[in-house]
Amino acid sequence: MSATVESSIPQSHENGFSSLEPAYHALIELRDVAKVYQLDEVEVRALDGVDLTMHRGDYSALIGPSGSGKSTLMNTLGCLDRPTRGSYRLDGIEVVNMSADQRARIRNAQIGFVFQNFNLLARTSALENVELPMLYGKRMSARARHDRAKELLSLVGLGDRLDHHPGQLSGGQQQRVAIARALATEPSILMGDEPTGNLDSRTSREVIDLFRQLNETKSLTVILVTHDLAVAKNARRNIVLRDGKIIADTRDHEFAAAALRASTE
Ligand code: ADP
Ligand code: MG
Repeated sequence: MSATVESSIPQSHENGFSSLEPAYHALIELRDVAKVYQLDEVEVRALDGVDLTMHRGDYSALIGPSGSGKSTLMNTLGCLDRPTRGSYRLDGIEVVNMSADQRARIRNAQIGFVFQNFNLLARTSALENVELPMLYGKRMSARARHDRAKELLSLVGLGDRLDHHPGQLSGGQQQRVAIARALATEPSILMGDEPTGNLDSRTSREVIDLFRQLNETKSLTVILVTHDLAVAKNARRNIVLRDGKIIADTRDHEFAAAALRASTE
């Protein structure tokens, strides 16, 4: 085996896709994506011509000053929000023209979300919280749901906390339950908008170590929004936004931090 396999892949055309390489599509392909909000007379360009490619197993942090478009980009990637312009192919399928129902279906199949405030059901055990998403979608027996929830909680290091309610768990543990819940439907992408935003630096560490572990051992694609450079450093790739544009896209954390500093000066 030599470099011939790689070099035989045709170069992509101007639209970023080649009809000759269907097997090589990226997991995520954004082309010239814009999101414009019209507020009275004022146009807000939350996203302004974003091109972005992510492959299976990538681990990216979206960083940038407040109002730079991070959440808008995340909501677009998560099929929650629809761009005003451009193309978004998720696993080779164009999402932009889909109905809300179709988007919900593709979201449920591909994406697991975690939130800044965990969003766990309060009077419900960790185990039941993780079982919940398995009640929807493909049919599973109660036994299978229970076993899978238990397995996922063990995976996130909470095998001994199955019956604890969120109030009986630390913030870091609650977020780990939320990560287990996000994985219940076997998504290919795990997304979080400021998933460590409510955690102190020590518990933040235990959560980002888990993101890293899931990325490395399960080849899970991870995309996080964060304002915390320690979290960004844990990711392999840093994407820096400013005024709805990507101003840096790099694996060099120092370079990303410098771009961020320059953008906030
Ligand atoms: P970030 O997450 O980086 O703080 P956002 O993606 O939330 O930024 O917002 C980007 C820009 O779009 C901001 O100027 C924000 O005020 C604007 N924006 C976001 N959502 C809306 C909305 N629903 N209506 C009007 N403007 C919005
Ligand atoms: Mg935001």
